[in-house]
Amino acid sequence: MWFRNDLRLHDNPALHAAVSSGRPLVCLYILDEESPGLRVPGGAAKWWLDKSLRALGEDIAARGGRLTLRRGRADAVIDQVVEESGAGAIVWNRRYDAVGRTIDAGIKEGLRARGLKADSHNGSLLMEPWRLETGSGGYYKVFTPFWRALWKAYEAPGDLGVPADLGGPQPASDALDDWGLHPTRPDWSKGFERLWTPGETPARERLESFLDGPAEHYDDARERPDTDGTSRLSPHLRWGEIGPASVWRTVRAAMEEGAIDQRHALSFLSEIAWREFSYVLLFHNPDLCEENYNSDFRHMPWRDSETDLKAWQKGLTGYPMVDAGMRQLWARGWMHNRVRMITGSFLTKHLLLPWQQGEDWFWDTLVDADPASNAAGWQWVAGSGADAAPYFRVFNPITQGAKFDPDGAYVRHWCPEIASLPDKHLHAPWKAPKDVLKTAGVELGRNYPAPLIEHMDGRRRALEAYDILKERRETA
Ligand SMILES: Cc1cc2nc3c(=O)[nH]c(=O)nc-3n(C[C@H](O)[C@H](O)[C@H](O)COP(=O)(O)OP(=O)(O)OC[C@H]3O[C@@H](n4cnc5c(N)ncnc54)[C@H](O)[C@@H]3O)c2cc1C
Repeated sequence: MWFRNDLRLHDNPALHAAVSSGRPLVCLYILDEESPGLRVPGGAAKWWLDKSLRALGEDIAARGGRLTLRRGRADAVIDQVVEESGAGAIVWNRRYDAVGRTIDAGIKEGLRARGLKADSHNGSLLMEPWRLETGSGGYYKVFTPFWRALWKAYEAPGDLGVPADLGGPQPASDALDDWGLHPTRPDWSKGFERLWTPGETPARERLESFLDGPAEHYDDARERPDTDGTSRLSPHLRWGEIGPASVWRTVRAAMEEGAIDQRHALSFLSEIAWREFSYVLLFHNPDLCEENYNSDFRHMPWRDSETDLKAWQKGLTGYPMVDAGMRQLWARGWMHNRVRMITGSFLTKHLLLPWQQGEDWFWDTLVDADPASNAAGWQWVAGSGADAAPYFRVFNPITQGAKFDPDGAYVRHWCPEIASLPDKHLHAPWKAPKDVLKTAGVELGRNYPAPLIEHMDGRRRALEAYDILKERRETA
């Protein structure tokens, strides 16, 4: 059993198939940083992977097996382990990024050519990304009809449970500590532990506690970064510590039993469907992480400014809502969805920097960094994506702050240097009278930055750039 983005024993289709064969089992994880073109996880994601592999290893050991860890090119490692263990069949759950799929296809072909069995399963999506088609054929490019079609077509399969015995040969394993996935010198991950416990058991507990609390108000509270109103399941789903089918089954059952209100349950399930939609987009657009889905955006006159990019990354733009989000991201490896949209809009519109630079930073700093949801999220924000927010919809970080963080609790937590400002001025400190700033101990340009660009100037510049895109498109 080759574990990848499915670090769980419960309801794991490939593992279930492997165990059902009745043959002794080798549980394998490969840290592949060598296959050409494969995008390796970023720093925050590696932190998660480290803890998740530890948890998986313990869970496997409790069932009489051992997780074998190997580092290297996946195709070469699979060959070695097959030879050492005498395995006759290899199973895994599918991945959907272009390079991963090519690697897997090559491995499958090679194994089968040698008379070995090689099978793949769906362990990370509700439905395969090629399954749902529009009435006129082709994949869905607009979310709402996709969601309707998914809701109609999808029936969660029965729970596969957890295998009792995972015993089998135990080929030599690397020591996880030697992989250096946990950051050292400096260890910037201390704040992660305050929010996260990676692993399959914590993932299931997280779902339960969500259903016992925030789920009751989900549709009302999900936009508020100052509350704990969402599930925070994203990294658990990203690493497959819980599968979307389990989440769907559990939430639907809670809804049908009346334990959670239908409006809130459907709103939550539609977010799970956004994850599916992102995978559909990635599957059909293999270069979604790099190339504009809407090719008109190749005409966009993006700026190039290392200084502005750095200020954005560090949460020093002078816009408290943007800075709070970027600091939460750095300190916790996660950012609330509303704030991902605000910070993304600020980067691509106010700063006019290419969305790929934001995608790349998120890739490195999010524990849930996901090839489909990150790329689709960024293209949505930038206006270049499928069913995206139109580019001319420029989020105003001041009014967004006042609306979604009305008491300022979120900003005050992450930007303590301006915490004493009254609510009225918290989201736009540079507009506060001098005496108010002085009383609050805020010295703009000294202990909190002046804004990188005035909102209206940023908005104007973004709209002018968009006009250039349109002109270039017409003359192209
Ligand atoms: C610019 C940008 C980048 C993003 N990058 C990622 C990423 O790398 N990984 C990632 O998992 N999500 C990403 N998202 C989507 C979303 O922000 C997170 O999934 C969400 O904030 C996770 O918090 P939660 O688990 O509490 O969500 P909940 O509100 O509890 O939602 C439940 C689950 O639904 C899925 N989901 C929710 N919203 C979205 C969405 N808009 N798109 C896709 N799936 C969604 C997630 O798996 C999430 O765990 C991004 C969004 C934007 C705007």
